[in-house]
Amino acid sequence: MSLTYDELLKRLREKAKPVETKKEWRLELPKVDIIWLGNKTIIRNYMDFPKILRRDPNKFLMYLAKKLAVPASLDGERAILIGRRDERTITAVIEKYVNEKVKCPVCGSPDTNLVKEKRLEFLVCEACGSKSPIGEK
Ligand SMILES: [Zn+2]
Repeated sequence: MSLTYDELLKRLREKAKPVETKKEWRLELPKVDIIWLGNKTIIRNYMDFPKILRRDPNKFLMYLAKKLAVPASLDGERAILIGRRDERTITAVIEKYVNEKVKCPVCGSPDTNLVKEKRLEFLVCEACGSKSPIGEK
């Protein structure tokens, strides 16, 4: 198999890019701190997440509840899920949220805002100024 110079360059760029953006825009999220009480899952440090991601705590919780397929409610700084979910599952949903609704798809910056226009959601990036539609992925 032989590659032209341009193809090779393209491949190198594709390989190099995610590493660069990751280094530049690393989101420092804490470890999800949960306890199980009966059939409930309590996320003890729940409020840290919407704070760091700068998102509405209720909307963020609605997203978690939907993706984890459990009813959820806020209790001060904590969130209570009806149903047992483990730390790994919850972390995966949070990461999905970050990829869909926080990280700018153009430059990778987490400094973004959600805006609604005509019932459509857009991600507006403070770093590069781009505006990207949000869809279910
Ligand atoms: Zn951006």
